[in-house]
Amino acid sequence: MADPRATCLARLGAVVGEPHVLTAAGDIEPYLTDWRGRYRGAAIAVVRPSGTREVSAVVSVCADLCVPVVPQGGNTGLVGGGTPHERGDAVVVSFTRMNRVRALDADNATMTVEAGATLAAVQQAASDAGLAFPLSLASEGTCTIGGNLATNAGGTAVLRYGNARESVLGVEVVLADGGVLDLARGLRKDNTGYDLKQLFIGSEGTLGIVTAVVLKLASAPRSRVTALAAVADVGAAIALLRHARAALGDRLTGFELMSAFSLALSRRHHPGSPEPLPGHDWYALIQADDSAEDPALAARVEAMLAAAAGLGVVADATIASSLAQARALWAVRENIAEAQRREGPNLKHDISLPVSRIPAFLDQARRALDAAFPGVRYVVFGHLGDGNLHYNLSAPEGASAEAFVAADRLERAQRIVHDLVVGHGGSISAEHGIGRLKRRELARVKSPLEIALMRRIKDALDPRGLLNPGKVI
Ligand code: FAD
Ligand code: ZN
Repeated sequence: MADPRATCLARLGAVVGEPHVLTAAGDIEPYLTDWRGRYRGAAIAVVRPSGTREVSAVVSVCADLCVPVVPQGGNTGLVGGGTPHERGDAVVVSFTRMNRVRALDADNATMTVEAGATLAAVQQAASDAGLAFPLSLASEGTCTIGGNLATNAGGTAVLRYGNARESVLGVEVVLADGGVLDLARGLRKDNTGYDLKQLFIGSEGTLGIVTAVVLKLASAPRSRVTALAAVADVGAAIALLRHARAALGDRLTGFELMSAFSLALSRRHHPGSPEPLPGHDWYALIQADDSAEDPALAARVEAMLAAAAGLGVVADATIASSLAQARALWAVRENIAEAQRREGPNLKHDISLPVSRIPAFLDQARRALDAAFPGVRYVVFGHLGDGNLHYNLSAPEGASAEAFVAADRLERAQRIVHDLVVGHGGSISAEHGIGRLKRRELARVKSPLEIALMRRIKDALDPRGLLNPGKVI
């Protein structure tokens, strides 16, 4: 009898060409470990198709042989969603070769692009056409638009433009049996029954494999101002957010909160980073954009900050006077995740809350966690404008980080944080998704009815459970 693994490899090779079926340990290693180094899987092979027809044929072969398929984009996901299981029975489908812009329609302000294009490449293509694709993440040089859709990514411009979902008009999807579902329409209005594309956005590769997307483009910003404000506490940051909204309206694109410790960590691991307003506990990074030329935008932001300072809301503030300064301010914020990785293993919570509940949550969580994990260090930052905090914990100074993140501690910390989040009407995953990391927690915090409906959707679209098994549900 033929070896089933050899049969699988031969059939995949016939579809994509042998050089694009990777099996050597050294070649597949980068696809088997997640960005955080938390999960390490195994796979029959990593397959790199060049287009939708090949993805469809690959998935058909896998369906035929009952082999699980794990889609993977840039592998920057933070919840283990793109890592195959340790069992090693799956095929990883990597999108690195599928990065073509199929069409850019400037009149319709849309772009149709293959799933493997990096977010940075999508932004650049939009900008080259005098438009903008506003989704913005620290991982944008590596993450792919397919991964962004699959996770319904958030990032630093959600306040104004929404999550990835809000920028998607159409998708092309390969289904579990290899069939191609073409929903790649560039329409802003389309009320013809159920909006099926929404099922695939945020489903983390468990319902279908996104091969191409139609994106809604925005006007390019013509004026941009970046400011950093120091505030005494998170309550003051929230008051400042309210001031900024009132003074700037739709121009307010980003409002990021950062604790002094998260900034110190960022600087420790990225020497040479600026430290413009030392000596405060909390900071807000604010960005205002206007799609029209507005020479008065900086003055507007300055007046808003001065008024907030007059009310005792802002302790100190600075406005970037050049593009380079603005970039440097953003770099310190965006380097926090990488700095935490370099600092060692950590426990991450990507939570969202009604903004008004955040101070109470922070007080209660700190008390409970200080008691459970004495000396724990809090790396708290995030998209305050969206009520989304990255509430991360690092091992106490001098303690073993590996021991700190042992499974029992992860579970204990998750329970403490998530129970408080749910108690305040929040979500245990604001933007990173569920993946493997939060699968059990999802089952714990969602109502049985919600879980049952999700299960029925999964069964309807992937009855044999071959698409990214062991993730989400
Ligand atoms: P991958 O990691 O490859 O995959 C993620 C999930 O999507 C997996 O479940 C995978 O199976 C599935 N998937 C991938 N491609 C497809 C496809 N074509 N079809 C179907 N399923 C697919 N996220 C945010 O939301 N906001 C942030 O601000 C943010 N900042 C980050 C900063 C850093 C430094 C890092 C490392 C990550 C950050 N992330 C952030 C997380 C991550 O970048 C996003 O989740 C991103 O959308 C993942 O894209 P990817 O291409 O890397 O996907
Ligand atoms: Zn984030």
